[in-house]
Order: sequence, then C-alpha cells, then structure tokens
Amino acid sequence: MPERLLVVEDSKAIAKVIEQLGKALGFEVTVAYTLADVEAILQGNKKFFAATIDYNLPDAPDGEAISCVLSHGIQSVVMTGRMDEETRQKILAQPVIDYIPKENSQAFMYLKRILHGQLLNRGSGILVVDDSVSARNHVVELLKRRNYSVFVASDGQKALEVIANHPEIKMVITDLEMPVMDGITLTNEIRKKHSRDRIAIIGISGANNGVHSARFIKNGADDFLRKPFCPEEFYCRVTQNIENLHNIEQIQRAANTDYLTDLPNRRAFIQSAQRKLPEMIEKNIPYCMAMIDIDFFKKINDTYGHEAGDNVLKVVALYMRKHLSGALLARLGGEEFSILMPGLDEDQLYGRLDDLRRELSVSQIPYEGQQITMSVSIGVVFNSNASLAAQMNEADQALYYAKENGRNQVSIAGQNHD
Ligand code: GH3
Ligand code: MG
Ligand code: MG
Ligand code: MG
Repeated sequence: MPERLLVVEDSKAIAKVIEQLGKALGFEVTVAYTLADVEAILQGNKKFFAATIDYNLPDAPDGEAISCVLSHGIQSVVMTGRMDEETRQKILAQPVIDYIPKENSQAFMYLKRILHGQLLNRGSGILVVDDSVSARNHVVELLKRRNYSVFVASDGQKALEVIANHPEIKMVITDLEMPVMDGITLTNEIRKKHSRDRIAIIGISGANNGVHSARFIKNGADDFLRKPFCPEEFYCRVTQNIENLHNIEQIQRAANTDYLTDLPNRRAFIQSAQRKLPEMIEKNIPYCMAMIDIDFFKKINDTYGHEAGDNVLKVVALYMRKHLSGALLARLGGEEFSILMPGLDEDQLYGRLDDLRRELSVSQIPYEGQQITMSVSIGVVFNSNASLAAQMNEADQALYYAKENGRNQVSIAGQNHD
C-alpha cells in the first residue's frame, strides 16, 4: 500500500506541483487548501506518512497549521514565503523535518529530496555516541525527525558492541571526549573493520580547536561538526554522507548485477564463490559447481527475434531462482549460467539440477501469441578440491559433453567421457 502525503497549500498552482512531486515518489496525495480543510481531513481515519505545510494560509496566517498537523503525529516539512530570522526560529522551535523557503524551483527539488529521504532513511541505522545524555538526546531527536533508525552508546567501547550487533548501522556520529574509549580511538577501531564505503563517521568536538577536527579526519572520519551547530548544518552533513554511501551501494550493485536477469554477473559470482568455496570445503559440506547453457539458443533468436530471446533468458533465471534456492547463481554472459550449490549429497544435488532441466524442457514460454519451447544442457562437478577456475573449467568440459551427447541433459565431470 502506498504511503499517504498531506499537502497543505492555498495556492492551487503550487499545490499541483507538490502533488505531482509526491506522486512521482509513489505517495497517495491529499490536498488541503485551508486550516479548516486540514482539520476536516484529520478528523477522518486516514494515516499520513508525512505532510508539507504552507506557513501562510488564509485562515492560518502565522504557521498555526504546523502545530495542528504535528499534534496528529505527522512528520512535516514547512514551506514558507518568508526567510526572516524570527520565522526561522519559530519554525525550528517545533519538531519539523525541515523548512523550505519557496524562493525558486530549487525549493521543490529540495522538497523532493527530503521526502524521498523520509522513505529511504528508515533503512539507514545511525549510531550516536556521546557520554553526555543531553547532547546525545539532542542529536537523536534531530535524527528521528528524519526517520533514521537511531542507536545510542555512551562510550567508544559500547559503540563497538552496538556496531557488531547491528549491521544496518551505516553512520556513526561520535563525540570526542568520553570515558573508557574516546571518539578518535573509536574512529580508529571502526576503520580496522569497516571501510568508508560501509560506514560513514562524523566526529563532533566542542573545543574551539581545529586540531580535533584534523585528528578525526586523519584517523578515518569522513566529516566533523563543531559544537554548537545549527540544525541546517547538522542535516546537511548527515544527508550528504548518507547519500554518498547510498550512491556507492548503487554503483557496486550495478557493477555486480546482470542488467537483463538481475542475477549476479561473472565478476560477482567469482568474488562470492572465492569466499564460499573454502568455507564449504572446511565444513565438509557437499556441494557442486555447475554450468548451464541454453540449447540452440541462436535458433530461438533467429525464429522469434532477439527480444523473445531476452525473455527466454529471463525465464531461465526465474526457474533457477525457484528451483535452486540456497545456491549462488549467476549469468556468466550470453546464454550461459553458473551455479555453486551446497546440498546433502551428490544424488540430491544431481536431482535438483535434473529437476530444473526437466522443468525447463517442458516449459512453454508465451511470446506474442506463440509458445516458445526450449531446453538446457548442464555440466556439473561434485566436491572438487581444485581451484575455482579449475572447477569451472571441469564443469564446462562436462557441459561440452552434454552438448555432444544430444543436449537437454545433465553431465557429470569425469563420467562417460570417451
Ligand atoms: P548450443 O546448443 O550449442 O549452445 O547452440 P546455441 O545456439 O545456443 O549456441 P551459440 O553459442 O551458437 O549461440 C548463442 C547465441 O546467443 C548467439 C547470440 O546472439 C545469443 N545471445 C547472446 N547473448 C544474448 C542476449 O543477451 N540476448 C539474446 N536475445 N541473445 C543473446
Ligand atoms: Mg563528552
Ligand atoms: Mg547455447
Ligand atoms: Mg554458448
């Protein structure tokens, strides 16, 4: 179910812009043009995820709508035509997500980014480390307004334990001076285990001294804040660093994923297999390495077209996911796939591969009113102690034999090879 966004705005033109922007983010949007509208809407039992509130409404000229919406527990962004210090202070005294001066079109870009963040931030854990309860609570409160999952610790040692137990933590905001373990040592310890691609660190120091900031940065922190800081400054640092991590994650994902089937690609397969193989060998877990190649795929392309061929590739990936859960799967390239699969014993592993082969050989893939039939050949090697490359090679040899021997079959490495 889509989340709901309440747009409070008396200008029809601006309301339209925000409504469209909200819809583009996947929100179901309700518009209120006056405070009276707001009150009527909030009488109902609709649950709103967030609201944007115009500071100045015909029946609420001085931000009266803000406390009304906030009192219903709805996180809100205030849109304002004014940017004087008094208005800013008045808005910031209330627990709003942010306020945005409606000065130009940039305001709506910013609003979109903020609302998108409210949806995404739920998945980002941030750990706040400070021995002062009041300083910690201040930062925690600011983060909660932005929907982050917040964790706390009162010293560096405790912070390390929290990080170890919560892999969803993406950022650590740490004070400098603390008992047991200070912020610099904590930064150092985190960096021994977690790179800057995984966890961002922001150091906070109270002292009016550039040396502390420098020490944070030199010890692996990504950023620092000097107390006292204003909310705008705080959010800017946090958002930038979280967005940065997010971008890196997306780039890494794209680099490791086959765009057509969404399976891991060759690079990702080799990386993961290099990690998993020694683990399975050490624990004595039976496993197999297998290669799959679609039979006469060129003919499918020639008969039905390239797009139909693409669709067949997607279907094969789908069947692999369905039949081989628990296995490491990949599209190596073209119409060739690989499998590294743990199991009970050779018979069971062979059975799973042969089931997949059989299911594919009886499948009928609808394409523009026609039914495409297809089959695959599979080569497999069991419990080999050879290197990954050698195992992939052996499975490939077995696959070659399956092709030579009539296709639509599973061939075991080292067997039946004349
Ligand atoms: P065999 O049974 O011996 O494997 O025959 P085959 O036709 O499947 O093998 P061949 O290697 O001769 O042809 C593979 C074809 O796969 C050729 C290529 O155009 C096609 N192909 C490779 N990648 C893609 C893709 O991403 N989409 C589509 N539609 N076709 C692809
Ligand atoms: Mg302190
Ligand atoms: Mg083929
Ligand atoms: Mg081929």
